[in-house]
Amino acid sequence: MLDKVIIANRGEIALRILRACRELGIKTVAVHSTVDANLKHVLLADESVCIGPPASAKSYLNMPAIISAAELTDASAIHPGYGFLSENADFAERVTQSGFIFIGPKAETIRLMGDKVSAIKTMKAYGVPCVPGSGDPLGLDNDENLRIAKEIGYPVIIKASGGGGGRGMRVVYNSTTLLQSINVTRSEALAAFSNDQVYMEKFLEKPRHIEFQVLADHFGNVIHLGERDCSMQRRHQKVMEEAPAPGISDSQRQQMGARVVEACRAVGYCNAGTLEFLYQDKEFYFIEMNTRVQVEHPVTELVTGIDLVKAQLMIAGGEKLPWSQSDIVLRGHALECRINAEDAKTFMPSPGPVRLWHTPGGPGIRVDSHLYSGYSVPPNYDSLIAKLISFGDTRDTAIARMRNALSEMVIEGIKTNTALHQEVLSHAAFQQGGLDINYLERRLGLK
Ligand code: ADP
Repeated sequence: MLDKVIIANRGEIALRILRACRELGIKTVAVHSTVDANLKHVLLADESVCIGPPASAKSYLNMPAIISAAELTDASAIHPGYGFLSENADFAERVTQSGFIFIGPKAETIRLMGDKVSAIKTMKAYGVPCVPGSGDPLGLDNDENLRIAKEIGYPVIIKASGGGGGRGMRVVYNSTTLLQSINVTRSEALAAFSNDQVYMEKFLEKPRHIEFQVLADHFGNVIHLGERDCSMQRRHQKVMEEAPAPGISDSQRQQMGARVVEACRAVGYCNAGTLEFLYQDKEFYFIEMNTRVQVEHPVTELVTGIDLVKAQLMIAGGEKLPWSQSDIVLRGHALECRINAEDAKTFMPSPGPVRLWHTPGGPGIRVDSHLYSGYSVPPNYDSLIAKLISFGDTRDTAIARMRNALSEMVIEGIKTNTALHQEVLSHAAFQQGGLDINYLERRLGLK
């Protein structure tokens, strides 16, 4: 088992990792920027090290500072959380080369899956269905690119191979704008991700976003923990998630799950990972893999009874997976609302001091948040301040509990998007389930 872990992240996920470490008797080191000295997990950690100024590039993305903190505190492993350096293969490599355990897959796996073109090629080779597309990165031959688009059939979507966070994508409806769109996406991708490689996919017009959670150990044992539906999105960013996905039958789940497991075993995958799919007309199409813990992991935890972060720590510590596939039984339904410090209508960020923070409770309610009364949300980072998670025997119960919880939650001093969640939960269409990824923007009048 690991002895001492560096938590190389901030906010709710840093606190989540700290809690899992404590349960397992692992000592914790919080590394934080100057503006984050009062974060809840920093105050609770066994040790803390300031790694730089507020700008992420100089703190949470500062590899030498994080590795030095590990050396200084004699830690054994580094948990990267999500975002920041969590999918940076160079970081994973440097961590390992410096003699520490990176809590995640091997650097070479992150590299293979981090590049979307190579991830798609790999998954396709192992029998995972993908969106019809160029297969390879687009070259500079205009005629060839026009031919590829025609073959796929409009509309198509141009995507950055190194893209993430819902950025670096452009939909093209006909040949007149294709070449210009490729050029613009290419230069945007270069500026945002330092990688100008782009590829082309069929643009699916009314898909759902459904993803499969996997766990794999160092001994070749791989299992899946069913799926999550993350179709409630704004600007390709998830707003609300649930497990299981409404309307997916157990045989579909086991069939897709088995393919996902097979592919992960073939690439020698280790630790927690998620394969993301678009789902349309009863077919799954792989779009990308996330080689880390996801924001929405709690909904899977609630329906499987498995603590994913503890599993990550145990796997990284060299333990065998204690479950086989037949041990994974889904029970009930879980929902997650991402509570952001932002205006519910304009989506403008709303940092600042939290005067009062009162969390909801009752059966089936879980709150993952680093907030406390008197804490001030800094303007420098992502606006996620809490995840409100509900569980019930049925989806209806999970929805009812979520609506209660949202109405009980008090956050004074900053604006939040709770009204948006309340509104979505009150829609008859949402209550029915199975909506596509365009629903939220349509309802908000953005589409
Ligand atoms: P990122 O890494 O930026 O999250 P993804 O490839 O996971 O990028 O795509 C994010 C979202 O963009 C998806 O959940 C979906 O809403 C939309 N999207 C991506 N590819 C397609 C496609 N081929 N057709 C329609 N929508 C897509």
